[in-house]
Amino acid sequence: MAERVLAAVRTAPSRTELREFPMPDIPDDGALLKVEVAGICGTDVKMYAQPPFAAPVIMGHENIGVIAKAGKTFAARQGVREGMRVFVEHYVGCFQCDWCRAGQYRHCELTDWRTNPQARRFGYTTSDNPYHLWGGFAQYMYLPWNAVLHKLPDTLSPELAGLATPMSNGIEWALFEAGVGYDSTVLIQGPGQQGLSQTVACKQAGASLIIVTGTTRDAARLDMAVKLGADVVIDVATDDPLQRIMDATGGKGVDVVLDCTSGAGTAPVLLGIDALKRRAGTLLIQGELAAFPDFPVKKVTEKAITIKSARGHSFRACELAVRQLASGRFPLDLLATHTFGLPDVDRAIKAIGGSGGAADVIHVSLLPWLE
Ligand SMILES: [Zn+2]
Ligand SMILES: [Zn+2]
Repeated sequence: MAERVLAAVRTAPSRTELREFPMPDIPDDGALLKVEVAGICGTDVKMYAQPPFAAPVIMGHENIGVIAKAGKTFAARQGVREGMRVFVEHYVGCFQCDWCRAGQYRHCELTDWRTNPQARRFGYTTSDNPYHLWGGFAQYMYLPWNAVLHKLPDTLSPELAGLATPMSNGIEWALFEAGVGYDSTVLIQGPGQQGLSQTVACKQAGASLIIVTGTTRDAARLDMAVKLGADVVIDVATDDPLQRIMDATGGKGVDVVLDCTSGAGTAPVLLGIDALKRRAGTLLIQGELAAFPDFPVKKVTEKAITIKSARGHSFRACELAVRQLASGRFPLDLLATHTFGLPDVDRAIKAIGGSGGAADVIHVSLLPWLE
């Protein structure tokens, strides 16, 4: 095994440097992952442009790899052995608190960087910490005793395996949070990797009507939504989305609205409130807006709308996501549009994001060993 590990380190806003770290000496209750693929999502775009902390960070929070080395205790506790291929969740819980004991380790204080400066989370924790390798944009990643792993079949391609995180979010948000199931009618706003993953989750769960919205530059993504199971797609820039939704639902509106847009302001939430059925619909929001002037609280109350917020994924959602990807039931490989190597982390993140983002980019995989 190499003595040095190459990693892409975020050293300042929108700035990445390639650095070498010593190969860590892993403890008996730790392990080392040889990173095969790190998925990149909209969160990376935000964290790259406006880092929440100044300390250097190896980003990469959607990580897949092979156990290169495992301490005896780690292997016994985790039920893994060297050579096993795994999907690593980015949460690192304490496994003692109420949330962890309830299986909801994603809400654990130990992994919550928003409230805990000492938090541990892959892709967020600074490389100044012991073992340094706390993110997937590197050849190897350190796995502490409390890493959460999911075994992956060898048959999954790296690019498809890299979709495990958006797919598990799709299952968590649409099915577990918003309750989409048999015969549900659903509006999914935004046809990016997240919206398309929700489309598959809703279709698999039995939704009878799936409507996906996007803008004119999303034309190719809306076509893809149809291939993945959408019944109706709407270009909100050229069409009257509310009218189209009412036409598609016989004037009733939908049971569930999932907001998978980014940087679209208040419009998706306002459309969602109007598009929901007369009573007791569910609106899932991502809440990136700091404020919401003139929020129509009266309408929300009168329609008895339940608002849920999307935050991450549970263990079961990850397991189901892996099975969904392995099933080959949907052409999910369509989503895996771009791959980059370690020297191109900066380009890879910018490919996803905003103004510099190309219209044909859906999911970007960082392959640290790509020549
Ligand atoms: Zn992500
Ligand atoms: Zn905990």
